[in-house]
Amino acid sequence: MTLYIFKDSDKQVKIGKIICLARTYKKHAKEMKSKTTKDPILFLKPESSIIFNNDSILIPKLSNCIHHEIELGIVIGENGKNISEENAMNHVLGYLVGLDITARDIQTDAKKNGHPWSIAKGFDTFAPISDVVLKNEVVDPLNLDLELKINGKLKQKSNTKYMIYSIQKIIAFVSTIMTLKKGDLILTGTPEGVGELFENDEIEARLGDICYLKVNVKKEL
Ligand code: MG
Repeated sequence: MTLYIFKDSDKQVKIGKIICLARTYKKHAKEMKSKTTKDPILFLKPESSIIFNNDSILIPKLSNCIHHEIELGIVIGENGKNISEENAMNHVLGYLVGLDITARDIQTDAKKNGHPWSIAKGFDTFAPISDVVLKNEVVDPLNLDLELKINGKLKQKSNTKYMIYSIQKIIAFVSTIMTLKKGDLILTGTPEGVGELFENDEIEARLGDICYLKVNVKKEL
């Protein structure tokens, strides 16, 4: 599966691993009754969870409550291990807007029982993403509005400036654990305002005026 590079349809990058961060916005941590941490909390999504513009999120049979989380995505353009914060931006290819779809009922149960989040986060269609905008077209990735609408109604509105970690810190930290490779995607966590999705919902997600994503919701047959 490939990532599509905006404004240059000839350019495509094969999608690697999907690394997700949690509790990176204080107000969201608060709404989940959680605390932020010194280093980011990480989990992974499988590549099979990726969908694109005009695709459908499928509510899985195993869940009765799926939530939307709008997030800034960082796409890695150059391999690296133990990347320094000073050098981190050289490893960025670009940015996108993504949704970290979450089976909240399954996650709540997992948290209660000390189980991993892989099931809650890893269903097919649980990572809708927009096209990638190359980094040289983005003035300041940490000053972009994040806006999510359902059926035309605003549900999440924030700005990447409220994220508690810098992009440099995120890349440096993740690369101390796992080698970052070209095509890897880091979803950087959601601001406040998460909520439930229902069958036939139409979702629009925007990152500033550079990334746009539109998907709908169906039930798994
Ligand atoms: Mg998230």
